[in-house]
Amino acid sequence: MDEESAQVFLPPRERCFERLRLARFGETVTCVHCEKDAVVKRGTTGKDAQQYWCKACETYFNDLTNTIFGQHRFGLEEMFYTVKEMRSEPTAQIARDLDRDYEAVLNFVHKVQDVSGEIDEFDLYGVCEADEVYVTAGEKGLEDEDGSPRSRGLSKKDAGPSQQTNRQS
Ligand SMILES: [Zn+2]
Repeated sequence: MDEESAQVFLPPRERCFERLRLARFGETVTCVHCEKDAVVKRGTTGKDAQQYWCKACETYFNDLTNTIFGQHRFGLEEMFYTVKEMRSEPTAQIARDLDRDYEAVLNFVHKVQDVSGEIDEFDLYGVCEADEVYVTAGEKGLEDEDGSPRSRGLSKKDAGPSQQTNRQS
């Protein structure tokens, strides 16, 4: 763990979860299985995701259930970092930044690429990029001109209607 010597700015994990939660659930957490909101909090997982119990269908789920972040052993902040950097940095560089195994990072990058075309639950890139930490780390978040393929649909408070998760099917 030599995070201090490396020039890597990982967002705080708790903030990553807040963003993910807001993007997935909005104001009200609904069950990922039955979509009812009869949901109570039940502790956290080993990866610090909030865990929930759905009283309607009697199932557990957590912040990461059914997302690409779910089955991976990386910390959520590492995955956010990877998603953000993978469009500009080679995978090998990201692996070095994170001090992680190249194959493992590559594996995750492929997973992101697989879902990024079809994910509509939330704007994956927007969620991972919208972080003040990065902005202060070099104003990167402000350069939207040069071909950034997605607008930051989930940035801060005025995210607008696009952040509502409409899953009516
Ligand atoms: Zn349920």
